[in-house]
Amino acid sequence: MQTKFILPENEMPEAWYNIVADLPSPPAPVLNPGTKQPIGPDDLAPLFPMEIIGQEVSTERYIPIPEEVREAYRLYRPSPLYRAHRLERALDTPAHIYYKYEGVSPAGSHKPNTAIPQAYYNKAEGVKRISTETGAGQWGSAMAMACTFFDLELKVYMVKVSYYQKPYRRSMMELWGATVVPSPSPDTQAGRQVLSDDPDSPGSLGIAISEASEDAATRDDTKYSLGSVLNHVLLHQTIVGQETLKQMELAGEEADVVIGCVGGGSNYAGLAFPFLRRRLVEGAKTRFIAAEPEACPSLTRGEYRYDFGDTAETTPLMKMHTLGHTFMPPDIHAGGLRYHAMAPLICHLHDLGLIEARAYHQTAVFEAAVQFARTEGIIPAPESAHAVRSAIDEALAAKEAGTKKVIVFNLSGHGHFDMSAYDKYFAGELEDFAYPEAAVREAMKAVPVV
Ligand SMILES: *Cc1c(COP(=O)(O)O)cnc(C)c1O
Repeated sequence: MQTKFILPENEMPEAWYNIVADLPSPPAPVLNPGTKQPIGPDDLAPLFPMEIIGQEVSTERYIPIPEEVREAYRLYRPSPLYRAHRLERALDTPAHIYYKYEGVSPAGSHKPNTAIPQAYYNKAEGVKRISTETGAGQWGSAMAMACTFFDLELKVYMVKVSYYQKPYRRSMMELWGATVVPSPSPDTQAGRQVLSDDPDSPGSLGIAISEASEDAATRDDTKYSLGSVLNHVLLHQTIVGQETLKQMELAGEEADVVIGCVGGGSNYAGLAFPFLRRRLVEGAKTRFIAAEPEACPSLTRGEYRYDFGDTAETTPLMKMHTLGHTFMPPDIHAGGLRYHAMAPLICHLHDLGLIEARAYHQTAVFEAAVQFARTEGIIPAPESAHAVRSAIDEALAAKEAGTKKVIVFNLSGHGHFDMSAYDKYFAGELEDFAYPEAAVREAMKAVPVV
């Protein structure tokens, strides 16, 4: 009865998988907000290095992982795949549950999988300094580690509520050499604008993105870096699913259902896209479920149309499921899932009927997280706990139906910096926010008509 499926280092995948090569129809183009015409590489050049821009628009099926990136990946990759025997027993289910654990990275989540190559490509093109935003701090800490590996300066605009609520995430970033400021900050035009309208603004991911991208666009030595949503970020994460395919082979099983939580969509894409390739190309029957918060349900409730990626309307327009770029999600503890929209590639696959979406209230999510921690030991990040909830529900449905089912989910990170949220859950102080329908309706008025 094997529990861990471990790949040796020499079995680590040598290329990322680009699902665009295998899609039945191409994703909608990214548009310039002024002209409403598709953007070209020149539009992105002030923000990203050329290699990243090339990956953003690539239709090559496989893109080689540079050796310098593989060297850093080997600090924590290949990551383990676990069979959740103890959770299965507790649920008394005929389902087999597997989880890919990305919390083994030094930063504690899947985010270094893209932070490392992004830092590498910037360094290779002579960039000296990077600007980025972070919500709960996972992305900022992954980028801080990657930048110190490749000797780059980093400035992080951290959403103000998290800056004060998660002081240890900030300490981690500073330990790895980054400069961190609470956003909205007085350091950018976008930040000053928000502060003059509302000096007590708690900040949001959309505002922080506006600040970080302005920082990069207005300085010659600086480029911008994003931790989710964009095609190249999802691409880098596919190392997760490619490893998992090999590990499922070691386990001698085929996945029936592949599950992940979705904020911007990167950890789920990373696990799911290599499995989706087998459905698209080889006719596998696998189902795909994306799990999101009821308080910020872009995929289940958002309209599928063009919107900005940030609050200040500085990004290009992308076709996404959106709740409106000015939408301020309720203050749920899964900070990494508080984004108004969703990766265009995930939305396209959802639109094609290949990915299903589910939304959960946070008390149900924490209940699942506690059951998981008490059986499997690992304390999940509140974000990852959405995937745990969904996997448990699938396992209970299999029990009800009396059928065996093989479930694979991404445990995207650990929750060691989220213990105050667990305290609140046990104190009965965790609030379930109903779908904020009126706020979304208001925010949708600011979405441009294309
Ligand atoms: C950031 C984060 C997420 C959400 O981001 P995606 O791009 O949707 O993956 C999920 N889980 C953890 C642990 C995170 O840090």
